[in-house]
Amino acid sequence: MSLFDLTGKVAVVTGGNGGIGLGMARGLAQGGARVVVVGRDRAKNSGAVAELGGGAIAIEADVATEAGAASVVKAAMEHCGRLDILVNNAGTNIRKAPEDYSLEEWRFLIDANLTSAFLCAKAAHAVMKAAGGGKIINVGSMTSLFGAAFAAPYGASKGGVMQLTQSLAIAWAADGIQVNCVLPGWIDTDLTKQARKDVSGLNDNVVKGTPAGRWGLPNDLSGVAVFLASAASDFVTGTSIPVDGGYAAQI
Ligand code: NDP
Repeated sequence: MSLFDLTGKVAVVTGGNGGIGLGMARGLAQGGARVVVVGRDRAKNSGAVAELGGGAIAIEADVATEAGAASVVKAAMEHCGRLDILVNNAGTNIRKAPEDYSLEEWRFLIDANLTSAFLCAKAAHAVMKAAGGGKIINVGSMTSLFGAAFAAPYGASKGGVMQLTQSLAIAWAADGIQVNCVLPGWIDTDLTKQARKDVSGLNDNVVKGTPAGRWGLPNDLSGVAVFLASAASDFVTGTSIPVDGGYAAQI
């Protein structure tokens, strides 16, 4: 359907080499976009590129640094000649009680989850503005909405991602750039496999606490990525969409 057609578009997906990022990248590739996968792990990058096809390429970069974020946009322009869609998905977590985090760990998490999104969006803005528009999709979390006792810096970073989305959306609406956020519920990825080891009872709590009665899968995020990357969402900006099996809808 032409409203969702991404043919000829170039989509950068940070953290697109696995988990949720790869689920979103699959949707974008199916929609016709050429995907630029960004991650630090060369082997994972190669695996994702091989799977995605459609002229997909990988860029090895740490998007928590200004130089890394800038290199992503530069490389996408050099290799693909345009940048239409930016998915700020790269992120990580360290789970412990708030009082046990070092300042270094706090800064590491804020940089990986929040500063990375700001730096990539900032780097992409000039290119998108010059082209007359673009789509930026940030990845928040249920912790953008709710507290988690074992994830204070993560929650602070993800609350920040949701707020950053609104500010960028307002600032760049006149440039034809839509900025939206996706709030995944509990999704089965490497990140949450580790969480299941770290947090006792987590698996049962997720299944019981999610109205859909299951963990989400990376491909559950494919469709929302296509919607927010396509002309179908041209009047949608500054919003955050839960993709959570109903988790955020309940009291
Ligand atoms: P994964 O650990 O499976 O994937 C994280 C991805 O981010 C990897 O591709 C990793 O690649 C990349 N990455 C991490 N740090 C950097 C960095 N500094 N520079 C470049 N790439 C980086 O986790 P998920 O798929 O679960 O998480 C993806 C996003 O979704 C994160 O933002 C996470 O917070 C969010 N999220 C996840 C939920 C879940 O239940 N799984 C729920 C809500 C939100 P590499 O190691 O190669 O650098």
